[in-house]
Amino acid sequence: MKYIDKSEKFDLLDKYKDFHTLYEKPWDEFKNPDKTITHNYILRAQKYLCAYCQQKLKERDSTYSFGHLEHIIPRDESKELTFNYANLVVCCQGFDIEEYREKIKSDRVKRSEEFCAPKKGSELNHSLFLNPVTEELIEEYFDYEIVNSQNDPRSKECIIMADKKRAHQERNKAEYTINLLLLNHNILKTMRAKVYDEFAIQYSKAKDQNQFLELIFDESSNDLNEFFSMLKRKFSILKN
Ligand SMILES: [Zn+2]
Repeated sequence: MKYIDKSEKFDLLDKYKDFHTLYEKPWDEFKNPDKTITHNYILRAQKYLCAYCQQKLKERDSTYSFGHLEHIIPRDESKELTFNYANLVVCCQGFDIEEYREKIKSDRVKRSEEFCAPKKGSELNHSLFLNPVTEELIEEYFDYEIVNSQNDPRSKECIIMADKKRAHQERNKAEYTINLLLLNHNILKTMRAKVYDEFAIQYSKAKDQNQFLELIFDESSNDLNEFFSMLKRKFSILKN
């Protein structure tokens, strides 16, 4: 996970600020085009990464309907935050979206929501959950390890874990967050390892490796690499 800066104001949501007092289910009153405009605006601010697992997402349009608007503090818990910009992030729906899109092409359309936002549920332990909107140094809570897959020793997995250098209490927070969102689901571990491998190949082929890393880890870029925080953690140590 990576910090998401919400200091910018997003005026479109102002007209919805009283909806929670007017409607029983205020979120159901939020419709297009405003909903899609909000979704895409937030996704751009997240540099096209799912706020929790960091798989890549695209802007919603008539041909792409993946990703969903997620309330960090669940709606059931705090109705008044329903339209609060700082409480809204864009997340995936708990499956490998690119793989699913390939399956649609070949008519194998089964999908299930197995990790990330769909697993978070409506109960949140606020003292343990690492909120990407409020925790500026959130990336530093986590570390990653590449291991051989237990199911298939020929393939690799990338495990996310609490950074061992952090204090006990902070490791607890990282572990709670990883478990809550199932960030070590087999699908995610495999996806991360694949991105790691591809990146390692690109890095080894780069003419100027330092320049390559600088370019990829330029956080002012509008479009960040999938699993950005993992790559940054694993590769920035190579920078000199
Ligand atoms: Zn996700």
